[in-house]
Amino acid sequence: MTGPILVARGDELLRYSFPSPHPLGRQRLERFYQMLDSEKLGYVRYVKPVKATRETITLFHTERYVSFVEKMSEVGSGYLDYGDTPAFPGCYEAAAYVVGTTIHLLDKVLDEGVKAFNPMGGLHHARRDRAGGFCIFNDAGVAIEYLLRKAGITNVAYIDIDAHHGDGVCYEFYDDDRLIFADIHQDGRTLYPGTGFRDETGTGKARGLKLNIPIPPFSSDEEFFNAFREVENFLEGHRFDFILFQCGADGVEGDPITSLQYSPKAHSYAARRLAEIADRKCGGRVLAMGGGGYNPDNVGRAWLAVVKGLAGEV
Ligand SMILES: [Zn+2]
Repeated sequence: MTGPILVARGDELLRYSFPSPHPLGRQRLERFYQMLDSEKLGYVRYVKPVKATRETITLFHTERYVSFVEKMSEVGSGYLDYGDTPAFPGCYEAAAYVVGTTIHLLDKVLDEGVKAFNPMGGLHHARRDRAGGFCIFNDAGVAIEYLLRKAGITNVAYIDIDAHHGDGVCYEFYDDDRLIFADIHQDGRTLYPGTGFRDETGTGKARGLKLNIPIPPFSSDEEFFNAFREVENFLEGHRFDFILFQCGADGVEGDPITSLQYSPKAHSYAARRLAEIADRKCGGRVLAMGGGGYNPDNVGRAWLAVVKGLAGEV
């Protein structure tokens, strides 16, 4: 059995919640924690959320954008983008907690050789200078910059199975050969953000280091497993020192805003395989980040599967 799995837990993470009827609300995380409690997994250790400093957030985001979020957080209404991501009172602090918690867990993974999960993380649509698709600050983007610039890591692998393409990570590191990127998502012709096609493989020195696998709406586990095997082959061909795993649950059948039809077996399989690959190729260093998922029961089941998968359970 793999050693403890750290899971971030605390009210500060629940604050990242848009006013009803927005689909991203606190009920999804609450359901996950409830299900995790009922399983009584002996290897789970909870870690309290930590707020990121401005210095940490600006490892990825521009000063100008961070100031804009600060201002909108005080105003407490309106939108941070063109209509998907509302501002709310305290949204700066809520987003800063998501980033800080991801970075805190990264440090734990690096220092203690444990595996970890920030269920509120994985906000993969935010760009360096703007919000997008319910994402205020891109904790995954900050994590990549932190690993490369502060933690002495040379190459990072980022794997994303959210139903939506991880555009904020893909394009902000599109020419960076230090980021190995693989993303399985619903075909961009049928879902936000409308990107992530096969021919988008990176540019310059990074050509061939970005793998985008769009799959058709209504795809189920079989299509997912085929796509994930391609991701595994891709990872086998590259060298990296850390795995970041965005495990969005919005591809599970019954999500209100996507059309994929996975079961939580997709999440279980991906987490287990990535944990094995991490053990073999990069000292076991893997951090999972939650991402999307708008059917609370699905979110609970999928992320429970992630926790068990990281621990090597089927
Ligand atoms: Zn999503």
